[in-house]
This record gives sequence, structure tokens and C-alpha cells, in this order.
Amino acid sequence: MLAAVSQPAPEQPTEAEWAAAVSAITRLPADGRILLICHVNPDGDALGSMLGFGLGLRRLGVRQLQATFPGRPEVPEPFREMPGLDLLVPATAADPDPDLVICFDVAAVSRLGDLADRLDRAGAAIVLDHHASNTRFGGIHLVDPDAAATSVVVEKLLVRLGVPLDAGIAECLYIALATDTGSFRFDMTTPAVHEMAARLLATGIRPGEISRRIFDTRPFGAVRLYGDVLGRTQLEPSGAGGLGLVWTYATLEDLSRHGQRPYTLEPLIDSVRCTAEADVSCVLKQVAEGEWAVSMRSKGGTDVSRVAVALGGGGHRLAAGFTGYGPVSEVVDAIRSELDRATAVAGRGDAAGRDQGQP
Ligand code: AMP
Ligand code: MN
Ligand code: MN
Repeated sequence: MLAAVSQPAPEQPTEAEWAAAVSAITRLPADGRILLICHVNPDGDALGSMLGFGLGLRRLGVRQLQATFPGRPEVPEPFREMPGLDLLVPATAADPDPDLVICFDVAAVSRLGDLADRLDRAGAAIVLDHHASNTRFGGIHLVDPDAAATSVVVEKLLVRLGVPLDAGIAECLYIALATDTGSFRFDMTTPAVHEMAARLLATGIRPGEISRRIFDTRPFGAVRLYGDVLGRTQLEPSGAGGLGLVWTYATLEDLSRHGQRPYTLEPLIDSVRCTAEADVSCVLKQVAEGEWAVSMRSKGGTDVSRVAVALGGGGHRLAAGFTGYGPVSEVVDAIRSELDRATAVAGRGDAAGRDQGQP
């Protein structure tokens, strides 16, 4: 389970933790087997951090190397040209007892699905992450809640391993950084984030081409699907304690009618959350009969991770999610009540304040 957001946020990695991670990697024998795992339904940060680090390990001479994620092995369309994809294996083919497991962008064991058993069976486990809600699973923690993306932690570990950036590594880390900062628009886009972007761009990668591929390319069917789903968006100005709630849902039937895969719906929340009249936005994406993957965002007035954690999920203060069960009306009712509770708590002035809202 995820830690309650009211618990103290984890601190930055210590020198001892960095040293332990470096030695777990460099002390492996030449035939040592490493398994890289990122979270279920991988986003740009999960895949980019994992594959970028995988390419770095390759440069170090690691040969017995696999990268994987739980669930269907399908890579979302926008990421199908990412460097390092040849490292990927389906979860069913992942090494059952690797010498070392390294997890990327995974806040809790539940996000590892069927691959969670590798943690117990591996000789050692390193966790690279930036979620304040990280539950500190695994052995060696490189968890930096102030990092804009897990790829920030990855770059630091590559430096400590003496691996220089090349264009392949840089493209992976750039996709990760651009995804989690909303293309360098969110508040955690610090000078350090732009400095990292500058180091990545200096390898010669093309930001325009990468952004078009990752953010601005969609099949026509997806454009029509968005039309249907956005057309049923509801605005509740009195929701979220009067800050406004906007929400919509997409069914499996919507997807099949337009011939689209579920990951097509991932950017949908960005089209809903721009609603001026609402602080909180929600998208319910059907994953099975009576089961919904719920994405929530706030513009700053609401701690949506409180709501998500209360409903069995997790995330960041301004970007969180959970799995909802039952008909749409019941899931939205549950969100409404938890939002009222969260805004009442925030009104008392003890909302968790440290998290930055990064996905
Ligand atoms: P998403 O809306 O899918 O982009 O997710 C936003 C953030 O919420 C992610 O970075 C995750 O940290 C978190 N999150 C989403 N779904 C879940 C879930 N079912 N369980 C735990 N955390 C989740
Ligand atoms: Mn992620
Ligand atoms: Mn991330």
C-alpha cells in the first residue's frame, strides 16, 4: 500500500545510498544478470528512465541485461522509436531470479504487478524514483522527491558510474524529463531542469522532432475518440469545495468504436484540465466491466493525492490516480465525497505541502 500523504516525505538520497547503488552495479561479476523494471502502463518517464539507464549499463559493458514492465508488453505508439527498445522483454520472459533488480518511477510494489516477486528473488534491488509517496520498498533507495522526473536521478547515477551521455541515452532521458514536466511548463521546471535539458540537447538530439512524435502525433481515430469523450465532459462549479470539478469518462466501447488502444487516452486529462472554471479535473478510463483507471489533476487548490490515497491509489499533490470500481456514477460520487473531505482538511491548513505534482 502507499504511505499516507500526511507522513513525512522521504529525504534526498544519502551519500551512503549512492555509494551502495554504485557498488551493487560495479561489483557484479561479468556474467551478472540485471533486470530493469518500470511501472505498469509505463509513461515517458518510466520507459525513458529505464531504457536510458539500460543503454548506460550497456556502455559499462553489462551484457546480461533485460528491461520489462508488468502487464501487456505493448509499447505505447508514441514511444515506439525510443532508443534502447531492443532491451525490452515481455514480463512473462523476464529473468525469474536476476542478480540485481533496478526499478524506475515505481512508488509502490503494487505498481510492479506480477513482477513484484523479482524483488524477493533478486540478490539486490535498487529503486530510482521521485514520488513523495514512495513506500521505501526494495533494498537501496535513490528516491528524490524534489526531482522533476525519475530521469533526473538516473542522470546522477550515470555520472557516478562514469557513463558519459550519448545521443541514445540523452533522447530517452529527454523524453522522460519533457513528459513529467509537461514540456517544461510545470512549477518543478527549475534552473537545474533546464541545465539538465541543455546537457541532453548538447548530444545533438532534436527536440522538435522528438516532441512532435511524443506529444503531437495521434491517429485520426484518436482525434474522433477525443471528440466523443470531450463532448460528454461535465462541469460542476460547486464541486471540490467550490473550486470546481470537471470530469469525463471513456469506455472500452468508445475505444473499439474508433479502433484505439487504451494508452491513446493517457493525454486526455490534459484536454480536460484546461477548463478555466474548475480546479480539479478527473478522467475515468474503463479497463474492464465495472473497473476504471482514474486520473486526477489539480491546478493548485486541492491535494488530489489525498483523494487518490483515500480511494486506494496514490500519486502527487497535483497529479494522482486510483482504480475505481462500479458504475461511473458511483466512482464520481466517491470522488465528490473525498474531494469535499480533502478541501475541508485543506481549509484547516494541514494539507501536505511538499510534493510538487509531478506524474
Ligand atoms: P496518471 O493520471 O495515470 O498520469 O497518474 C498520475 C500519478 O498518479 C502517477 O504518477 C502515479 O503516481 C499516480 N497513480 C495513478 N494511478 C495510480 C494507482 N492506481 N495507484 C497508485 N498511484 C497511481
Ligand atoms: Mn510515471
Ligand atoms: Mn515520473
